[in-house]
Amino acid sequence: MARTVMWFRRDLRLADNPALLAAAGRLGTREPGAPGDQREVLALYVLDPHLLSRAGAPRRAYLHESLRALAEAIEDAGGRLAVVTGDPVVEVPRVANRVGAEEVHVAADFAPYGAARDDAVEQALTAQDRRLVRTGSPYAVAPGRVRKGDGEPYRVFTPFRAAWLDHGWRAPVPAPDGVRWLEKPRGAGGAADGEGTRALAARPDVDVPEAGEGAARALWEEFLDDGLDRYQQDRDRPDLAGTSRLSIALRWGEIHPRTLLADLTRLGQDGRRSSGMHDGVASFRSELAWREFFADALWHTPTSARTSLHAVVPEDAWVDGVDEDAALEAWAAGRTGYPFVDAGMRQLAAAGWMHGRVRMVTASFLVKDLHVRWQRGARHFMRHLLDGDLASNQHNWQWVAGTGLDAAPYFRIFNPVTQGTKFDPHGDYVRRWVPELRDVPGAVVHEPWRLRETPAGYPERMLDHAVERKVALDAYGRR
Ligand SMILES: Cc1cc2nc3c(=O)[nH]c(=O)nc-3n(C[C@H](O)[C@H](O)[C@H](O)COP(=O)(O)OP(=O)(O)OC[C@H]3O[C@@H](n4cnc5c(N)ncnc54)[C@H](O)[C@@H]3O)c2cc1C
Repeated sequence: MARTVMWFRRDLRLADNPALLAAAGRLGTREPGAPGDQREVLALYVLDPHLLSRAGAPRRAYLHESLRALAEAIEDAGGRLAVVTGDPVVEVPRVANRVGAEEVHVAADFAPYGAARDDAVEQALTAQDRRLVRTGSPYAVAPGRVRKGDGEPYRVFTPFRAAWLDHGWRAPVPAPDGVRWLEKPRGAGGAADGEGTRALAARPDVDVPEAGEGAARALWEEFLDDGLDRYQQDRDRPDLAGTSRLSIALRWGEIHPRTLLADLTRLGQDGRRSSGMHDGVASFRSELAWREFFADALWHTPTSARTSLHAVVPEDAWVDGVDEDAALEAWAAGRTGYPFVDAGMRQLAAAGWMHGRVRMVTASFLVKDLHVRWQRGARHFMRHLLDGDLASNQHNWQWVAGTGLDAAPYFRIFNPVTQGTKFDPHGDYVRRWVPELRDVPGAVVHEPWRLRETPAGYPERMLDHAVERKVALDAYGRR
């Protein structure tokens, strides 16, 4: 029987995984147990030092948990996950050679590093007379597929979303019953709980949530039962559990957006559902469309990961050197003296996640109140977010900074106090994350400078928003 390697990367799941079905020779096989063109499959994960060095302790710790869950699922099905550490261009052909696999199967990676790495791995495999087979991607519609009538990419979200909805996506594929997993061969590397992966778990720094596809599915089902019908109304409220929190599972591919979209379509077509549920379906689908829009944008313009798509202010408007470092340090530590901003940054540090509304406000504060370039903030987010994803992160930063595709205009500047009083109306979110303010009742917690005494340990405002807003607008006027 022919042998293949299933190289897991950003698809740490067994269900609805077309690349895995292709590896097992089951893609397109109608009967789940039918012999078809069956192969023996080796499950492989490569710990790539280049990617790990950029990930930060929280993301590495989450990867450890997720790999453990994947390994357990594969063991339950009779196989073993081989985990090797090293450059994939060397390691993948080495493992394929050792097990005598003709093909290595992956879900295509569209981000700049991943796409270049895969091309290099493909060349190395071809030199050994083996093939790299790409099936599916982390998206419902692969980046580059949705285009305007003239073949150009969309630069504005709303028409992209309309074309993306028109394009549609495939139905989820069945779970791979009866895959013939190969035992991990000698010399193929440690198991998922081996030394390489254990090193990932060192110094987790954050409370890592439960990882793996089972946990992702449970989170989604809980949200369908008890969140989607209020999503439209509550999703901007960081004081409530108003969003799905699936960004982490989507980032690691523990669940695929196609699985979510199929459930949304079913719910949307059910005429007995409440109007809240129908609004929730449309609004959640639209958020998934943003994820796909930004992936598409990064694929068309890989330099957008580092470079602004538009210049909004002259270069001399940004702070540099020690001023920049001091601004970044206070912001990252959640010690700006603006409670809504500080709560967000402390949530990020403690939980490796931040509510989306607060991501916008904290990012805006760094760029427009502290006059720090968006790239510095994006780098900090990428080190700390468990859902850190190059396309979503860099393009959302560019959106807030006004430098990206279909971005918020530069002159629309978030006011950290009014954002707080509007979206955290009772101050519960601030009190949860900023212990120095726990005894300040009600919405005044968003403006501690109005209290007779500043609560002990909480910093004075490091700047006056009204003044810095004007500085930002003046710089914009000079561009
Ligand atoms: C400055 C900044 C940085 C961000 N960095 C990231 C990042 O690194 N990784 C990441 O996944 N998201 C990022 N986002 C987008 C968004 O904030 C998160 O996806 C969302 O808050 C995650 O929470 P949730 O899963 O509960 O979202 P829900 O409201 O439940 O949304 C469902 C899903 O839709 C997608 N989504 C929602 N909003 C956006 C958006 N604005 N852009 C792209 N996709 C979206 C996510 O996959 C999310 O899981 C960033 C936003 C900002 C403003």
